[in-house]
Amino acid sequence: MVIVRGSLHDHISLSLKGQRGFLLNSVVDPGEDTALAPDWDWQELEEEALDLLKRMLRVDTTNPPGNEALIIDEILEPLLRREGLEPVVLRKKEGRSNLVVRLSGDGSEAPLLLHGHVDVVAADPARWSHPPFDAVEAEGCIWGRGAIDMKQTVAMQITTLLALHRARVPLSRDLIVAVFADEEMGSALGSIWLAETHPELLRAEYALGEAGAYSVHFGGKRFYPIMVAEKGFVWLELTARGEPGHGSMPSRDNAVLRLARAADALGRRPLRFEATPPMKAFVGALADGLGGPKGAIVRSLLKPIPFRALGRALFPDARTADAFSAMLHDTAAPTMLGAGIKVNQIPSEASAHIDCRTLPGQTTQGLIDLVRRRVGSDIEIEVVAEGAPVHIDGSDPLLDAMKGAIASLDPGGIAVTNLISGFTDAKPLAALGARTYGFSPLVLPEGISFAAMFHGDDERIPVGGFRKGLRVFLELVREFCGE
Ligand SMILES: [Zn+2]
Repeated sequence: MVIVRGSLHDHISLSLKGQRGFLLNSVVDPGEDTALAPDWDWQELEEEALDLLKRMLRVDTTNPPGNEALIIDEILEPLLRREGLEPVVLRKKEGRSNLVVRLSGDGSEAPLLLHGHVDVVAADPARWSHPPFDAVEAEGCIWGRGAIDMKQTVAMQITTLLALHRARVPLSRDLIVAVFADEEMGSALGSIWLAETHPELLRAEYALGEAGAYSVHFGGKRFYPIMVAEKGFVWLELTARGEPGHGSMPSRDNAVLRLARAADALGRRPLRFEATPPMKAFVGALADGLGGPKGAIVRSLLKPIPFRALGRALFPDARTADAFSAMLHDTAAPTMLGAGIKVNQIPSEASAHIDCRTLPGQTTQGLIDLVRRRVGSDIEIEVVAEGAPVHIDGSDPLLDAMKGAIASLDPGGIAVTNLISGFTDAKPLAALGARTYGFSPLVLPEGISFAAMFHGDDERIPVGGFRKGLRVFLELVREFCGE
């Protein structure tokens, strides 16, 4: 149980002063706003969130097969019911549960949705320092697959909802928490299915999900990117045809060769450069944050020629350079090949799957035109799956509040908005009309890279960074949803 203490503000708490908006309250300030801001027992809330995180990390929800029901039905649903809440659990397939729970406000403002997924990608224990599903606490971190993608965010979201519920904080808008299955395999059994079949459960003015507000160390500064945009995807199957024949008498009319040339043409360099509005904002803020000559070099990355010339040299490693390049290009990556059944038989057909990613503003047809130009006219192109890019444009009170929250999370940190090259559950929620952001505040020390741990080995979360993140997350949600 959480005890709501008297009236002393914690040193990092954020207070309302007359009007809506974040003001950093850096000194102990007794007596102020006590009706609006419960004085949380942070120690107890943090322990509760850490305990929930560890319980979820100990469940192997590698997708496939996912088995998210082991968390949704056996941990989260009973936990919420014990507190008097009424979670809804829905599944398209046995074992693949999704959960939605709502805390009602007075309806004067539209809902805020917090969302996460509890499936994870595979982990090879041989490559890890600690077993990936034991939630070992060592070296100041909790280790486990899902520690940053993204069971930690789900633990924060659930703890936030429970804290507001127990303290009976009056809300001006509904607070919804949705926990999805199947994000790592494309969300067909999770957010996409739920948004199609039960949109009324998920409709919200704003949605906060993964991939945002963690520390990125760059050029001697700490940046906190809030995700405002994500690329789209277009998954293509290319087919080449040719004259079948015997392998002992090769001809140039060979489907395998034709397909190989097409795949090479696509993979040799990105399809198209564009400095889109979210990237201009992101790179501009990085440049401003760095200042001086470093800032000027970073700003030049918004032009294609300096990007190609400087890109590799500027970044600490090839992986970071590739990640940056992906944010500035429509891309195509050949990922699966198929042709032939016998070594001495030239097949009549060869096919390849291509993972194409589109920048905000690009359409599926525009992407196909680019691919067509690269591969020529004799390759068949079929769209297997697609998802539109997302870009949340302009400012709003929640974005301002998130920037304020980052200032309290790390007073020396710099909040920036950014674009991610992957995709998240934000896509179907944006399609329902929500302004979707990635916001999962976390302070990471310089030696721990978020990007490297995302689907990487030795995924882990610093306990101290998680505690701080929970505090600013709960205060952000309380202030944004509170009356
Ligand atoms: Zn994720």
